[in-house]
Amino acid sequence: MKTDIEIAQEAKLEPIEVIAEKLGLTKDDWEPYGHTKAKVSDKLLQKKANDPDGKIILVTAINPTPAGEGKSTVTVGLGQAMHKIGKNAVIALREPSLGPVMGIKGGAAGGGYSQVLPMEDINLHFTGDLHAITSANNALAALIDNHIQQGNDLNIDPRRIVWKRVIDMNDRALREIVIGLGGPKKGVPRQDGFNITVASEIMAILCLSTGIDDLKERLSNIVFGYTYDDEPVTVRDLKVEGALTLLLKDAIKPNLVQTIENTPAIIHGGPFANIAHGCNSLIATKTAAKLGDYVITEAGFGADLGAEKFLDIKSRIGDFEPAAVVIVATVRALKMHGGVAKDNLKEENVDALKAGMENLEKHIETVNEFGLPYVVAINKFPTDTENETSFVENWCEERGIKVALTDVFAKGGEGGIDLAKAVVEQIDTAESNFKRLYDLDMSLEDKIRTIATKVYGAADVDFSLPAKKQLALYEKLGWGKLPVCMAKTQYSLSDNPALLGRPSGFTINIREARPSIGAGFIVVLTGDVMTMPGLPKQPAALKMDVKEDGKIVGLF
Ligand code: ADP
Repeated sequence: MKTDIEIAQEAKLEPIEVIAEKLGLTKDDWEPYGHTKAKVSDKLLQKKANDPDGKIILVTAINPTPAGEGKSTVTVGLGQAMHKIGKNAVIALREPSLGPVMGIKGGAAGGGYSQVLPMEDINLHFTGDLHAITSANNALAALIDNHIQQGNDLNIDPRRIVWKRVIDMNDRALREIVIGLGGPKKGVPRQDGFNITVASEIMAILCLSTGIDDLKERLSNIVFGYTYDDEPVTVRDLKVEGALTLLLKDAIKPNLVQTIENTPAIIHGGPFANIAHGCNSLIATKTAAKLGDYVITEAGFGADLGAEKFLDIKSRIGDFEPAAVVIVATVRALKMHGGVAKDNLKEENVDALKAGMENLEKHIETVNEFGLPYVVAINKFPTDTENETSFVENWCEERGIKVALTDVFAKGGEGGIDLAKAVVEQIDTAESNFKRLYDLDMSLEDKIRTIATKVYGAADVDFSLPAKKQLALYEKLGWGKLPVCMAKTQYSLSDNPALLGRPSGFTINIREARPSIGAGFIVVLTGDVMTMPGLPKQPAALKMDVKEDGKIVGLF
């Protein structure tokens, strides 16, 4: 079987102007970034403000295995399939982070015959957005430390700076550091640490801003620490919002590329869904909705993480409503939820599959909780047997659940036609009673309890003493009306990655709460989830190379 990169290298890409033309974009609406990538103007939304919006389809999944369940692959495949059935669809995905690219996954631009291209660029430095976000984040860090060094007019307490430095890499050695050592000319010593760029507040801000003015306002509102008198200090106080906005002036523009079948794709922003809000940018989703009759977009990991945050945070800030949800499930992950070890997933095991269906069942209940129409997509792997896929199909049909077996990895859009038809039919016929899970008026603690019990299925929530104090402080400071952005392991519905399937009777442990006032939410850390991941023992980087002729190998 060919690898993803081999398939991508054989594909014939259209020049990006052809894709832009197909979308009806004029020369002012976009600028080329090489032959096959473009930046779409951040002013396009204003220009098309009175045009109707396309229907937004959210792709989510069950709790994944370590390699992912193929949400991006199904998102791309569904976009391609929509064109096969004559629908004008635009896909809106996240930009990959170099952390997982070098670590576990090796790439995040779809797979097989459902990929976005040029996949090697998209997976590596792309149009530089993540580097711009890293630079803006670290410029702020340097400006804060410089302010303290130069006399500290703002009275900032160096022990209470909550702003971390970031790098777009899994680098556990940087989790806890001490800076400013070496004497008076080398800064004021303090404890600091790094997060991965995709968990940074600036990434979230970029992804929730609707344009340059909104971006600047959100950057101004960042609370990066507290004074010796316990007052929050903001970027506005430091007067550097202009410089930070400047560093992001191109990063705010959505990126236009194409799928392997030359259909349009917008890829922009990339917060992780376990430690951040997990959705591509609002500006990209809204722009895609002005350009296509259907927008297919993905929120990371299972419906307990990305979808919950898509629906409770992104769609609330963006004031829109998705038309339908696709829940991606794989036989191999369901078998894992039913107790099969990772090494034995290739063997047929309908009993384990049956036991693992409870995980899918929980995610279906969650989507029902939001009142949205949905379709279950079985993402077919070469190792799945006929007995196994028909078991999942029958299980769904017996319960009146719309299901489609998809083979977009092996067949591209052709393999997703059933799914595309099922989704369009759901949008046209099923009733939507969309409601968000919680009201903003609820206290932060109650919002957390609501998510933990209704979405995760927890029996109880335990708040650590520091978390309790932090939440009380945020309520006092007037931040209690913000939504919460949960950080939790993606592998389990609980905060313990080892509890697969549908655990019950468990307690969700709230360790810490961090303000993300510019982004407009409070980040809540559960269990021992970390905002700087580490690399595995055998990182994907070990397989990668570039040859003298420029040929790339090992990007999966
Ligand atoms: P997710 O978006 O859920 O994280 P991806 O779409 O990135 O998942 O897919 C994860 C990995 O699995 C990729 O390497 C992709 O090529 C591979 N993959 C996805 N779907 C299939 C499939 N049906 N058959 C084989 N490999 C697949």
